[in-house]
Amino acid sequence: MKFINEPPKKIPVLAETDVLVAGGGPAGLAAAIAAAREGVSTMLVERYGCFGGVITQVGVEGVAWYRHEGTVEAGGLLFEFEDRARALGASTKECQSNSEAIDAEMFKYVADKLVIEAGVRPLLHCYAVEAIVEDGVIKGIITESKSGRLAILAKRVIDCTGDGDIAALAGAPFTKRERLQFTTQLFHCRGVNTEKFLRYIHEELKPTYADWKGVWKVQTNGKEDDMFSPYLMKPFQDALNDGFLQKPDHIGYGGTYSSVTPEGEVTQINAVHITGIDCTNVEDLTRAEIDGREAVIKGIEALRRYLPGFENARLRNFGMALGTRESRQIEGHYRLTGEDVMNQARFEDSIGIYPEFIDGNGRLWIPTTGRYFQIPYRSILPKKIDNLLVAGRCISGDITAHSAFRNMSCCILTGQGAGVAAAISVKDGTSTSKVDISKVQEALQKQNVRVY
Ligand SMILES: Cc1cc2nc3c(=O)[nH]c(=O)nc-3n(C[C@H](O)[C@H](O)[C@H](O)COP(=O)(O)OP(=O)(O)OC[C@H]3O[C@@H](n4cnc5c(N)ncnc54)[C@H](O)[C@@H]3O)c2cc1C
Repeated sequence: MKFINEPPKKIPVLAETDVLVAGGGPAGLAAAIAAAREGVSTMLVERYGCFGGVITQVGVEGVAWYRHEGTVEAGGLLFEFEDRARALGASTKECQSNSEAIDAEMFKYVADKLVIEAGVRPLLHCYAVEAIVEDGVIKGIITESKSGRLAILAKRVIDCTGDGDIAALAGAPFTKRERLQFTTQLFHCRGVNTEKFLRYIHEELKPTYADWKGVWKVQTNGKEDDMFSPYLMKPFQDALNDGFLQKPDHIGYGGTYSSVTPEGEVTQINAVHITGIDCTNVEDLTRAEIDGREAVIKGIEALRRYLPGFENARLRNFGMALGTRESRQIEGHYRLTGEDVMNQARFEDSIGIYPEFIDGNGRLWIPTTGRYFQIPYRSILPKKIDNLLVAGRCISGDITAHSAFRNMSCCILTGQGAGVAAAISVKDGTSTSKVDISKVQEALQKQNVRVY
């Protein structure tokens, strides 16, 4: 690659804050709100025009589709986000669980309310592009926006970019697997004859979680096999087998939907996948967006022919951005493992419990049993750089643990833990690596998080 030298430049300081959160997805929203509620000045910087991350930008609405009678959860901001969405008319019944699906569009408004009411200072359309680091301690970030390049100085920084952008820029160690999980061009349909569609699903197709073992070879642990799953593979398979649908090797069809509305919509159709994409590479992202949209349009043609009720269906909208499941994982002071998740691990520095829910990388376990594990603070504490925390899908863990903590409800939990820990460390004048964990746990419990 050819290089040029960028001339040195003075950068104006836009603001100084106690806690700066980069990225306003499930983790970032929770981190900023939790920190602000502990009484420290907090800023939240988001690259797009709305908060909500994968919820609002990709259109993923099932924040708690794993929830059943026996599921044990931490509560905290997850419950609050759900309650607030319900109160503002921003949720509908989720089709496979005791939960409600969030309305991805309305959640933009819900998130604005939550951020403003908590006293967080928001910045939208603002990309975090550089970390300011001195002697192994993060001091803030540099942003780019329509206002140019601006610095924000912060006593503590929480990286909630999903991709660990700030941690990587700061020089914190991370891993990234050679073959990352596939990306998804998510879409929603309208014009569906929902009565006919639902009759076909519930009376003829009758999909269950055991069906995931077919084409996708997904392992369950048996207990979920007979449970209903909104799994849509057959129409795509039929269209492919008949040669009606043709696809390049890097495109995959098949997946799920989340809600069926009285207005004739079937939402969150998570069924067009693009493999071989690294979402930290701009050319890969561009290719995935364009190839994904092409594949969705062809996929809808297949659904119109092969899926009862979809004869007159049309695209309502694409997600506004490609959906990424996996990119960088930071190397934390503890690396959460699949063994921890599946063996109810307990940690003295727990920042919250999470049910035994695994979805990804060839495994699907639904938490119907009441089993749960704890998440240690050390898994959100990156090595090498102090006063930096990471929350969300890029915390420290192996790929099986990732299939649990990447779920939005867990991202909210690690976000809340990071926000509280950052705030306590500011108030006590201790670095994030020396923060008094018992005080963090106490504060989290006051914020209605089940820690043990
Ligand atoms: C197709 C798909 C389907 C899924 N289905 C489900 C599901 O049904 N249920 C579930 O619980 N989970 C699901 N997941 C997983 C889950 O949505 C994500 O793992 C989760 O949203 C991650 O949360 P996060 O806050 O870490 O990151 P994100 O939700 O990705 O949020 C990151 C935020 O940071 C912003 N950002 C990124 N970089 C920068 C930067 N440099 N500067 C400023 N802002 C930045 C982004 O715009 C975004 O708002 C799905 C994921 C995908 C892709």
